Amino acid sequence: RRGGALNEAEKKSSTVRALLLEAARILPTPEARLEAEILLVFVLDVSRTWLFAHADDGIDAVRIERYRGLLAARAAGQPIAYLTGRREFWSLPLQITADTLIPRADTELLVEQALLHIPQSGIVDILDLGTGSGAIALALAHERPQARVVATDLSCAALAVARGNTQQLGIGNIRFCAGSWFSAIEPQYFDVIVSNPPYIRTSDHHLGEGDLRFEPISALASGVDGLDAIREIVYDARAYLKPDGWLLFEHGWDQAAEIRALLRKSGFVDIATSRDIEQRDRVTSG
Ligand code: GLN
Repeated sequence: RRGGALNEAEKKSSTVRALLLEAARILPTPEARLEAEILLVFVLDVSRTWLFAHADDGIDAVRIERYRGLLAARAAGQPIAYLTGRREFWSLPLQITADTLIPRADTELLVEQALLHIPQSGIVDILDLGTGSGAIALALAHERPQARVVATDLSCAALAVARGNTQQLGIGNIRFCAGSWFSAIEPQYFDVIVSNPPYIRTSDHHLGEGDLRFEPISALASGVDGLDAIREIVYDARAYLKPDGWLLFEHGWDQAAEIRALLRKSGFVDIATSRDIEQRDRVTSG
């Protein structure tokens, strides 16, 4: 990385190749090249392969300006997914905004684990607490079209994003309810309750770093030990589960033992923790 401002010749250069090269100097991240490609793909509304085939094509000034604006915002720390308003989850292209957590690949483990408890056919009732962009609810509804899914969020702005994704993807059978955890819904029984709640300790320095600085704090942090939301959900969940129903959470890598103890205390059985691709405890079910 050479650093510093662009010279006059560089400012006028406007090929795809030159625009992508610019990013290496402007973006401080190790993924500068990839991120530049994502932003240019977004501005030009083309595919990534198009960029490689058209490296020497000239780009018009308006789009160059938009692209450079996005590079500058990225250099200032804005998450790439908020700049494009897009993120893929479970191979579903989702729209997201700063009102929603950015869906993580890690959370696909929660979907995989939940699917183990949801039969391929037959009516099944599923609840997703704190749905955000709708990622988990949509992935489950996509895999189990016969399922009746209820998805909640405290944030009406997030629910609007989730509803938009549902319409965009043409996935039916999801009902959205606004409110805090179970208070969002009427008394009813579910076969499977899933949640990727906030679980980061309020003192965790990560909250002040990287993408997390720009994400809704209510979707990330949850009390001194990070377990406030999970405690509340575990205490209330039994009143909303069918007798053989399952509750599944995503959580931090060092929280599994405490969560298993909480579940045991609330009368859950068959409690198990699954590990993510980095071999870290990530999802606990009971
Ligand atoms: N896994 C996310 C992170 O550490 C946090 C998501 C959450 O709190 N639910 O960035």
